[in-house]
Amino acid sequence: MRPGNRAPATKRVIILGGGISGLVAAYELVKRGSPIEVTVLEAAKTLGGKIRTETIDGQVVETGPDSFITAKPEMLELVRELGLESELIGTGPDAGVDILLGGRLIPMPAGMNLIAPTRLLPFAFTPLFTPAAKLRMAFEPLRPVRRDGVDESLADFTRRRLGAEALERLVAPMLAGIYAGDPERMSVRSTFPQLLEMEKKGGLVKSLWWGAKQAPRREGLTMFMTLKGGLSKVIDALQRRLPPRCVRADCPAQAVRRRDGRWEVVTPNAVLEADAVIAALPASALADCLEGLDYELAMRLREIPFASTATSVLVYDDQKVPNRPKGFGFLAPRGEGLTVTAATYSSAKFPARALAGRMTVRAFVGGGGREGDAEGPITRLESRVRADIEKVLGLKGVVPLAQHTTRWIKANPQYEVGHSRRLDRLGSCLKGHPGLVLAGASYGGVGLPDCVRSGRRAAELVFAGSRRSHDAVRLGLA
Ligand SMILES: Cc1cc2nc3c(=O)[nH]c(=O)nc-3n(C[C@H](O)[C@H](O)[C@H](O)COP(=O)(O)OP(=O)(O)OC[C@H]3O[C@@H](n4cnc5c(N)ncnc54)[C@H](O)[C@@H]3O)c2cc1C
Repeated sequence: MRPGNRAPATKRVIILGGGISGLVAAYELVKRGSPIEVTVLEAAKTLGGKIRTETIDGQVVETGPDSFITAKPEMLELVRELGLESELIGTGPDAGVDILLGGRLIPMPAGMNLIAPTRLLPFAFTPLFTPAAKLRMAFEPLRPVRRDGVDESLADFTRRRLGAEALERLVAPMLAGIYAGDPERMSVRSTFPQLLEMEKKGGLVKSLWWGAKQAPRREGLTMFMTLKGGLSKVIDALQRRLPPRCVRADCPAQAVRRRDGRWEVVTPNAVLEADAVIAALPASALADCLEGLDYELAMRLREIPFASTATSVLVYDDQKVPNRPKGFGFLAPRGEGLTVTAATYSSAKFPARALAGRMTVRAFVGGGGREGDAEGPITRLESRVRADIEKVLGLKGVVPLAQHTTRWIKANPQYEVGHSRRLDRLGSCLKGHPGLVLAGASYGGVGLPDCVRSGRRAAELVFAGSRRSHDAVRLGLA
């Protein structure tokens, strides 16, 4: 056999979890055309995990993720590789997000990049911040740089660099949307490590301004993209690429154990043997499976907290909406006293798949520190959402044609302060279990591109028969 062309040591791989991370790992292994035999075990009856596309009142809606960021290329590359490029749609021209302030929708000033201003005039004239707060933000580049390496919360970091108003009116509501997290608890290092780099390179305002100037124009791409028929198309395409009988749905892994140097996965109907296991389950679900194998590892996995959220999709008759709101949606800071933390006008965000005569609003509820709102009775949740949307959009007495709510109970991993140390400890525990590789949103990134990257990396490690499979949990972290 020629050097560099050695057959991989691993022969049989079991993948736990049929969300995007697990399916990408399976696809990558199968794609190599190697002698590896892959089995995906999924507890639910359908694949996709958090990716769930449904049709409501004839309208394609997402009850989980609705799009992916294109600045991280992995998801876009996957879509293209799967032959779904013609399905790609971008966001509409009606860009922009409003922030609710004192019951009024105030447009986010143009050039507000991530969390700091990059354009002077829109920032100078916005009523979103008081003059004192604007001054505080403008002088951000002069703030001292923190170099002690302490893992700081996003709230502390924002207060220190930009002031309390930037936190309340901008960062906290934005974060609620992206990470479903409480900024007082979320780790800046594990959620936005790029902010720490920017701080070191002369401050956020300067780095973001420079970054915005230099950002390459990418033909035909918007910052967020999706698929016309919904993100589930990616899941269907991945499944089609896998051999028949490779996927076992409605087949939860109950325990993972070691016997005679091989792995065993216990399911309700059988005990399956493998040379390697890729665990693409939420950390909490994996902990249940590993309790008997390694108590400490299970405990470390349980240290990663999960928050509950809900999405509620409302479909309105266009004619009954007197003043069509501008932009893609709004963020509601906590002080506004709403149950809804944010909402997107899906029909404006993705006009290429909007139904004529309909306005679709996707409202978000819950998240770190506000979980009770998402976990309570669904009828109460739905009526609060209707009341909030009615109030904010001035829809007095307008009843939606349809409302569909999905609760995601303890489903959103929270990268709290100390998350990276937790991953280090997890990595140390995994050193004792070569061939057990972790993938998925619980560790190094919750976005779809992060999940695709983690699935790919897990497959690479297994394919290479790497003894460093514990490295997988460090993925995507600074
Ligand atoms: C409401 C919401 C909106 C979001 N919006 C966006 C967005 O717009 N853009 C974006 O990029 N990201 C978004 N995200 C995040 C993103 O959707 C997730 O991080 C990603 O889909 C997670 O994929 P995964 O494969 O790692 O995990 P999951 O999708 O959670 O998949 C894990 C799978 O494991 C299965 N499982 C659990 N236990 C067992 C067991 N014992 N045995 C076998 N199988 C088991 C589950 O049923 C599930 O199918 C959103 C998330 C939510 C909840």
